[in-house]
Amino acid sequence: MPRKTPGRQTPGTLAEDCVIALDVGGTGMKGALLDRELCLRATLRRATPRASGPDAVVGAIASALRELAAQAHADGLTVRQVGVVVPGIVREDDGIAVYSANLGWRDLALTELLAARTGLPVVLGHDVRAGAVAECMLGAARGAGDALFLAIGTGVAGALVSDGRLVHGGGYAGEIGHVRVEPDGARCGCGGRGCLESLASATAVAAAYAARTGRAVEGAAQVAARVAAGDPDAVAVWDRAARGLATALATAVTLLAPEVIVLGGGLAEAGDLLLDPVRAYLAEQLTFQRAPLLVRADLGDEAGCMGAGLYAWHRVPDRVPAGFASAESASPGFASPVPASAPVSPAAASDRLPAGWSR
Ligand SMILES: [Zn+2]
Repeated sequence: MPRKTPGRQTPGTLAEDCVIALDVGGTGMKGALLDRELCLRATLRRATPRASGPDAVVGAIASALRELAAQAHADGLTVRQVGVVVPGIVREDDGIAVYSANLGWRDLALTELLAARTGLPVVLGHDVRAGAVAECMLGAARGAGDALFLAIGTGVAGALVSDGRLVHGGGYAGEIGHVRVEPDGARCGCGGRGCLESLASATAVAAAYAARTGRAVEGAAQVAARVAAGDPDAVAVWDRAARGLATALATAVTLLAPEVIVLGGGLAEAGDLLLDPVRAYLAEQLTFQRAPLLVRADLGDEAGCMGAGLYAWHRVPDRVPAGFASAESASPGFASPVPASAPVSPAAASDRLPAGWSR
C-alpha cells in the first residue's frame, strides 16, 4: 500500500469517505477533496468573482462545491461534510459570515445558503483560524499548545491558539494587523492610524517601495528580490515592515507567550530574508518574556484549504479521521480545542482516534 502523507495527492483505491474543503479568498478559491487520512484526492482552483458582488461570490462557491461533489462521485468517494472558510469576521457556531470588506457581504447566513444550493451539509470557518489549525496539526506549529499564526498578504491577519484552544472572540480575535505600531503612522483602511497592516502587508510593502522610488513593482516579491540585491530603498521599506512586525509580535508575546509564531502568506515566502530581521528586532524588545520560535509556515497557501478540511472532518458525527478525538464532545466549530500534541500520522489507521484534539 502506498505511503500516504497528509496534504499530498494520492491515488484512490476503494470507495471511501471524503470531505470537501474550500478556501474562499479575495481573488481565488482553492478547493480539495480530502480523505480520512487528510490526503488530497482532488483539487480545484477558481477565480472569486468579487467584482460582481456578494451574490455572484456565493453562486461561485456553490458551483465549486457542486463540481467537487461531482468529482467525488466520479471517483467513488462519499462526501460526508463540506468545510468552507472565508475571510473577514466569521461566526463559526451559527454559520454567519458577519462581515468581509473584500467580499462585500454583511450578516450572510452562508452555511444555510450553501446547504440549500448544494444539498450538502456545510460548515463555515474563518480562513486564517483554519490555517492556524492546519499549521498546528500538520505544519510548522505541530505539537505547540500556544501558537500565533500570521497570514501576511493583501492584509495582515492573525489567529491564536492559547492553552491548546483556538481563540475566537466572537469572530473578532486575532486582528493583529490593526495593532498600532507607528503612533503617527498613515491612516489604515480600518480607520485607525499606523496599523501594522498599513506598513507590513505584502500590498503595503510594494506600495511603499513604489511611493519612495517612483518605480512601480509587481508585488512584494519583487521588493524582496531588491532587498537581497542590496537596493537601499528596498532595504529601508523592508526594515520598516520587519520592525513593525516585531513591535506587534512583542505585544503578543508579552500577553500570550506563544511557543511558536508562524508567519504565512505571500510576504513570508521571502523566508529568512523576512524572518531574520523580525527575529532580531523582536529579540531587542523582549526582556524577561519567553522567547518564541519564529518560523515560516509549512503549508503555504494550502493552509486555509487544509484547515477547511480539518474543520469539515471534525463535524462528521460518526467517523472522524486520524488525529481527532470525538466530535460529539466538541462544541460547534473550532471552539473546540486544537491538538497540542499527536500530529496526524500518515501511518495512523483511520479507525483509530488518538487523543490530541481534546487535550
Ligand atoms: Zn487598521
